[in-house]
Amino acid sequence: MFTQEEKDKYMNLAIEQARIAEKQDEVPIGAIVIDPEGNVVGRGYNRRELDQDATQHAEIIAIREACDQIGYWRLVDCSIFITLEPCPMCAGAIINSRIKNVFFGAYDPKAGASGSVIDLFAVEKFNHHPEVEGGVKENETSQMLTQFFRAIRAKKKAEKLAMKNKSEE
Ligand SMILES: [Zn+2]
Repeated sequence: MFTQEEKDKYMNLAIEQARIAEKQDEVPIGAIVIDPEGNVVGRGYNRRELDQDATQHAEIIAIREACDQIGYWRLVDCSIFITLEPCPMCAGAIINSRIKNVFFGAYDPKAGASGSVIDLFAVEKFNHHPEVEGGVKENETSQMLTQFFRAIRAKKKAEKLAMKNKSEE
């Protein structure tokens, strides 16, 4: 199993991915896949806006890269670190790829499929049940999101104000 130090280290790599998204005005969400030896075999960040593709979530991109690297669709004994609780699509991809351990940072009350809205990992009838730990570096990962949305709201407000001032000139 992972020590706290290892969990923090890998979550930091997922946060690094999220920061790449943020720099491109994407909602900052990042994911990495680790093989059983502890090597990073997949990386991904949210690219929904960049690609205008609803399926381009960080986890999907990281899982695709890992399957490609390993050369097999089963990510046996692999782990995924995600900055945000996975949505139903990504939880489905995690189940389908047989990932063993799931670690996520912030909880997502609006779309989380690991307990917040629904818990797909706990559905007994599915044939695969990863081990899940939420709240890894929770403060940092949730603050990254709140700060991003706060900045967007401030930007919109400033734009509105600029428009208003312009029309009053
Ligand atoms: Zn997702």
